[in-house]
Amino acid sequence: MCRHQLYLGPPVSLTQLLVEPPYGLYRQSWAPRDMRGGGTVNVDGFGVGWYTPTGPVRYRRAAPIWADPGLVELGRATTADAVLAAVRSATPGMPFGETACAPFTDGRWLFSHNGVVAGWPDSVAALAAVLPVTDLLTLDAPTDSALLWALLRHRLRSGTDPGTAITDTVTGVLAAAPASRLNLLLTDGERAWASAVGHSLSVLAGPERLIIASEPSDDDPAWHPVADRRLVVADRHTYTVEDLCGSTSS
Ligand code: GLN
Repeated sequence: MCRHQLYLGPPVSLTQLLVEPPYGLYRQSWAPRDMRGGGTVNVDGFGVGWYTPTGPVRYRRAAPIWADPGLVELGRATTADAVLAAVRSATPGMPFGETACAPFTDGRWLFSHNGVVAGWPDSVAALAAVLPVTDLLTLDAPTDSALLWALLRHRLRSGTDPGTAITDTVTGVLAAAPASRLNLLLTDGERAWASAVGHSLSVLAGPERLIIASEPSDDDPAWHPVADRRLVVADRHTYTVEDLCGSTSS
């Protein structure tokens, strides 16, 4: 299943962040170390979103990340202090193409999903029906991940706290489709929220930076695995891990 990564910290080049680490997202596209629940490689496109003074910018492509020379050139020349990136392993039956690749965005938000909605699409048809028709007609792609983003964005637009919005989205989808895998990752460029439901997730905090990733990008012993059914709430300096019902557990 896809791999994703969030960085908050001092400005870093996209190459330093994604390509150079020994087990970074670049390498995770062909040699991930902790894939669970199907899939072996992440070659069905990729996306990188980073923050500029005017807001987030995205670069998404349908090709494997290693097959895109533009990423290497862009990555050397682009630095950012907040980055969300993902490499995709398309779930069988889902369409292929750059619009199906994370990150999805709206305003200052960047979002990624690692996992699958079980029983797609029938299992979540009733949940989708609460969305404005325009939201459904303008999904990035007809995929489970794009629908999850529309469901979460709907809650964010109504003013719901992001952690609560993620928790409510996850619990709603799990009630309708219990076997789903729902590692969601959301940032506004200053804070981040990440759920671990059915897939691996790790956090590296300090010095002066915070990384949340599907799997560690190096062998630094400071990486902490996140237990299943947890929500990570982070900013540039610190993070907490809560259960998905809201009580802080570490
Ligand atoms: N189901 C999503 C998709 O097809 C995410 C895939 C994944 O995590 N492997 O894009």
